[in-house]
Order: sequence, then structure tokens, then C-alpha cells
Amino acid sequence: MEIDIMTSYYTKLPEPSTILVRNPKFLVAEGGLATNRSLLVDNRKIKMIASEAEIRRKYKGDYETIDANGCMVMPGLVNTHSHIGMSMLRGYAEGLPLLSWLKARIWPAEAKLKPKQIELGAALGAVEMVLSGTTSAVSMYFYSKEGSEASAMFNVGLRGIATHSVFEWTRDEALKRTEEFVRDWHGKDDGRIRIATSPHSPYTCGPETLKQVEAKRLGLNEKYGSKYRILNSMHVAEATNEVKEIESNYKVKVNDGVAAYLGRLGVLTKDMIAAHCIHLTENDLKALKRSSASVASCPLSNLKLGMGVARLSQMMARGINVSIATDGAASSNLLDMFEAMKFASLLQKGVNNDPTLMSAKGCFDAATINGAKAMHQDAITGSLKEGKRADLVIMQLDGPNSMPIYDPYNYLVFAARSGDVRDVVVDGRIIVKDRQVTTVDMGKLREEVASATEVLGT
Ligand SMILES: [Zn+2]
Repeated sequence: MEIDIMTSYYTKLPEPSTILVRNPKFLVAEGGLATNRSLLVDNRKIKMIASEAEIRRKYKGDYETIDANGCMVMPGLVNTHSHIGMSMLRGYAEGLPLLSWLKARIWPAEAKLKPKQIELGAALGAVEMVLSGTTSAVSMYFYSKEGSEASAMFNVGLRGIATHSVFEWTRDEALKRTEEFVRDWHGKDDGRIRIATSPHSPYTCGPETLKQVEAKRLGLNEKYGSKYRILNSMHVAEATNEVKEIESNYKVKVNDGVAAYLGRLGVLTKDMIAAHCIHLTENDLKALKRSSASVASCPLSNLKLGMGVARLSQMMARGINVSIATDGAASSNLLDMFEAMKFASLLQKGVNNDPTLMSAKGCFDAATINGAKAMHQDAITGSLKEGKRADLVIMQLDGPNSMPIYDPYNYLVFAARSGDVRDVVVDGRIIVKDRQVTTVDMGKLREEVASATEVLGT
């Protein structure tokens, strides 16, 4: 059961420590902004949010100190749809429609990727994420004991859910692999690493396969899911021609909408993280709402592949849980949640000619607590509150883009840059300190990426 793959670019994961985050200018806590408050982290959790004097009076022990004077402390960002293992394919194929992009460029390149290169790409992606303020991520890719996204998340120190994707043509083998993945990694490090099932999409998995994956998931939950539920994630309603594609591939009727079709198959549940959800019918919206499934919107990937704009404000107005994501670096080039948040909000305002839509606070919630809800982890992360896990980000506010600040949410969504991220704590461990990742030897990682890039070619 115990496998901690170590490759030469990882340094040792630090133990969770006791940390006093001293005296920030702003602390974005659950329930609003706290001023003149420091934060004590102990045993992976937020132990206390109070004035520094009060904390020091109550807890006398030894602790590390992060001086946050002049900074903003905020909850870590939650990226609910990505493929971190694809980071080796950043910029590999551009300017193609989704299906040609996949069939002509991405799938053939992926066939060349060995488990070690998947892990290398995943480590690169996980490092990019933590350096840009993301503390939790969902990532769909491929599992092997010799190298995986879960191993990269584990070793870099990110909180995450990883999957092994299922396609119609890989079903039996992929389901076996999914079970192995769950057995090897689900719940590791006190629940920080979890595994989900993931049929790739309704156009690459037929109805029987979708039902089989769901049956497998329920079986896995019986066996391994008592403490942490095994969720499900897939691409839903991404392309305009998806309905036609499903109908012609599998001889089924989907004309009332893709999400409604998944609902009829019994696949759309509260455990589903549905990526994209761009082309939705009225029935789809109802199906999403009824099922309590969560949406992971990837505005940059959708724009870049010319897929359209998801109607996030409409979904949110109906009470559907909308979260924000980047998708993989092969389609969106960056795994930068600040960029994704800003685009998510601007698109709603721009395409609807309505600046009141998707407020900064609503957008920030979508990128934090709603993401945690989608991951079924809102009880432990997604906001800063005593008793929750310490997943937090310290933003340095000395750049010209960070002054003045009238409203922290306006700054975070519209003016902040990922380069403003100075320190990051995940599960009580300092993973980024003074803009440097503490768990990876970046020199070695750069060398490995360079030599793997040569092997992949163009
Ligand atoms: Zn995707």
C-alpha cells in the first residue's frame, strides 16, 4: 500500500509545523474581512484567528513565524479541473478545433508519454499551481505505479484529487487501473490525496461504459470510501458538436442535452464534478440542479479552443455549484487561477452586457469555497476558519497593481497577479516561502523537463 515515489527533483516534504502568521494588513476570513488579526497554524489546522497578543498569551510553545506585515492572507485557490500531467505538452498544439486537436496532436503525443514523464509534467504543474496560490486541485490523467499525478501532488505538497481516465476503447484495463489507483493512493497523508473515477467524456465513452464506471465507483466506495468519498469527474457539454458526436458514435438520443442524458443514465450525481458545461439546454440546467452536481468552468481553455462561454451567472442564479478551473496547460497554457478568476467574471459581464454579474466576491467564492464543495471538502478547506485545515496564501502588496486597496475581493479578482503570491501553506506545511517552492529542487526539475522535451520532439 505504501508507495512514495521519490525522484531526484523532489526534496523532502516538510512535517506540518506550528506557524504564526503575524499581523497581515488584511485577512480574508470566512464570514468577511478580519483586520488586526493574526493566525496560528498547528497540527495541519488553523488553530486560532485573533490578535497576535492574544495568540501569544494563549499558546506559549515554539513556533515558526511568517511576518505578514503589509500583506494579505487569503484561503488557497481551488482548481477543480486540470490535467497536470499534461504540462509537458504546454504549447505543443495550437490553433485547432477540439476534436482535431485531440485526435491529430494530443492523443498521439500522450501515447509517447511514459509514466515518469507524466509524473515530471505533473510535478511541473503542481509547482506552477502552488507558486500561483492554488492549494487544492482536481486532475484527470493516467495512473501507473511508476509515476503519477497523485505522487506529484503528494511530493510537492498540494491537496488533490487525481483520476485515471476511462475511454470506450480502454474500459476494462482502465477500470482495473482505477481500482489500483484507489487502493494505492486514496486517503493518503490524512486525506490530502484522494482518487476519483473519470470517464473522459460522453463522446468518448458510450452509455454502457458510463454506467459501468459509475457501478465501479459505487463498488469502490463500499470498499474504500468510508472515510473519504470517491467522486467522479468528466468533461461535459464542451463542444458545440458534442450532441451529434455522441449520437453518431453510440446510436443514442441526446437532443434534450448532454447533462440531461447523463442524468438519465444515472451518472449525474452530487459526487460529479462536470468540467466545462458550456452548451446546456433548459433540461440540462434542471438536471444539474436536481442532481446537485458541481460545475468546473475553465474560461481560458474554452476561449482558446473556441468552445464558447459557459453561462455561469445563470447557473449560479439557479443555485448550481459553480467552481473555477484552468484545464490543462496543453489547452490553456497556464494553470493560473488568478487569470481564470478574472476571465470568468469578465466574460459574464461582457457577453451579457451587464457589469453587475459575477461580482468579485462571488467570483472569489467560486474559486475557493465552491471548489472545496465540488471536492466534498468544504468542511476542511476553501476558507479561513478556526478548525479548518491550514491551506492559505500570503500575498505581497507592495507592487503598483496592489495599491490602493479599497476592497480585497476587487483586488484579488481584478488586480492581483499570481506573482504577488509570496508564501503558501498547505495542510500546515510551508510549501512556498518567499516565492520559492520548498519541496522541489527547481534546478533538477528544469534539467529533467529539458531532456524530456527533447525526447517528445515536435
Ligand atoms: Zn479537461
